[in-house]
Amino acid sequence: MEEELFCIGCGAKIQTEQPKELGYTPQSALEKGLENGEVYCQRCFRLRHYNEIQDVSLTDDDFLRLLNELGKADALIVNVVDIFDFNGSLIPGLHRFVGDNPVLLVGNKVDLLPKSLKRGRLTQWMRERAHEEGLRPVDILLTSARKSNEMTDLLAKIEEYRDGRDVYVVGVTNVGKSTLINQIIKQTAGVQDLITTSQFPGTTLDKIEIPLDDGHYLFDTPGIIHRHQMAHYLGKKDLKIIAPHKEIKPKVYQLNAGQTLFLGGLARFDFIQGERASFVAYVSNDIEPHRTKLEKADAFYDKHKGGLLQPPRPDEVSAFPELVRFEYSIKEKTDIVFAGLGWVTVTTPAVVAGWAPKGVDVLTRKALI
Ligand code: GDP
Repeated sequence: MEEELFCIGCGAKIQTEQPKELGYTPQSALEKGLENGEVYCQRCFRLRHYNEIQDVSLTDDDFLRLLNELGKADALIVNVVDIFDFNGSLIPGLHRFVGDNPVLLVGNKVDLLPKSLKRGRLTQWMRERAHEEGLRPVDILLTSARKSNEMTDLLAKIEEYRDGRDVYVVGVTNVGKSTLINQIIKQTAGVQDLITTSQFPGTTLDKIEIPLDDGHYLFDTPGIIHRHQMAHYLGKKDLKIIAPHKEIKPKVYQLNAGQTLFLGGLARFDFIQGERASFVAYVSNDIEPHRTKLEKADAFYDKHKGGLLQPPRPDEVSAFPELVRFEYSIKEKTDIVFAGLGWVTVTTPAVVAGWAPKGVDVLTRKALI
C-alpha cells in the first residue's frame, strides 16, 4: 500500500490525481519533494515561491464537521480573532459548538491599533462584545503574531488553561492564525515557517497537529471563511491595500450634515442630520478618503470609482458590486463598521448612512476607541 503523505504547508493529504482538489501535487514535484524531504501541495508551493494563491473547493460541510469535532473533544479552544476586523472574525454560533470546553479568546494584530489605546480597555471591550454573542471566554489576550516575544505570554496562558488537555486553535481566515501557529512552532521546536501564511484569506486547509510535551496535541484547524468580509470581493492587489500593515493613523474629519466621505471606492459614509462634529476614519493608511457633498455623492461615485476612488482598480470596476445603503440613527459614540475594511466613529448624536459593496456587512457597535 502507498504511504500517506501530508503537505507540510497546510496539512492536506497529498494526491496526484485531481488538480482542483486539496493536496494536489504533480507526480514530478512529489518525487522531487521526497528527495528533499519536503513535500508541499502545489497550492502551498506556489504560495511560498510566487506568493500566489490557488482556489480550492472547501465546503460548508467541512466547517460544520470541524465545529462538531470541537464539541466532542475534551480540550482548550483557542479562538483567534483579528482585532482590526473584530466583527468579521467572530465565528457565528461558536459558543454552541464548543460544549463545556473553555475558550481562550485571542485578539491578534493588536499592533494595528493606535498605541495610545489601553490594553485593559480593549480586552474589556472584547469581553462585552463576546458576551453579546453568547461566548464566555475564560480569558482574553491581545497579541501580535508578528512579534515572537508576545508568544511567550500566549503559550503560558495556553498551558495554564489547557490543564493537561489537547488544544484546538480556531478562527476565520486571515486573522493571522497561521502566523501565530508558526511562532508557536518556532518557540517550541525551533522549526521556522512550517505552515503556509499569506495575506490572502483561506490558506490553511487541513488540521495540523503539533505535539505537546505530555502526549497531547495542539491542533491548528482550517480557517473558516466569513463570506461577508470585504476581502472576498477584491483582487489580490487591492487586498494588499485594504489590509493595514502597520499602526493605523486615525483620520479626523470635521463634517457638517449633508457631507459624504468616500473610503476609496469601497465604502461610503453619509452624514445626514446632526450638529457639525468630528468623525474619525480607521482604515488602512493606504486608503484615501474623499470628502464631497451628499447631494452630489452618487454622481461623484459614478464618475470617479476606479479612478480617484480606488480600489477597485479601473479593470475591476465593471465586476465590482454596487454599494448598498444602511441608515442609522446614532445616540452615543458608535462605530459604523465596514466588514474587513475598517470603521468610522461617530462621536455625537446623528443620522448617518454607511454604504458597502452588496454582500459586505455594514454594522454598528459601541465605539472601540
Ligand atoms: P490565517 O488565514 O488566519 O492563517 O492568517 P495568516 O497567518 O495567513 O495571516 C493573514 C495576514 O495577516 C498576513 O498578511 C499576515 O502577515 C498578517 N498578520 C498575521 N498576524 C499579524 C499581526 O499580528 N499583525 C499584523 N499587522 N498582521 C498580521
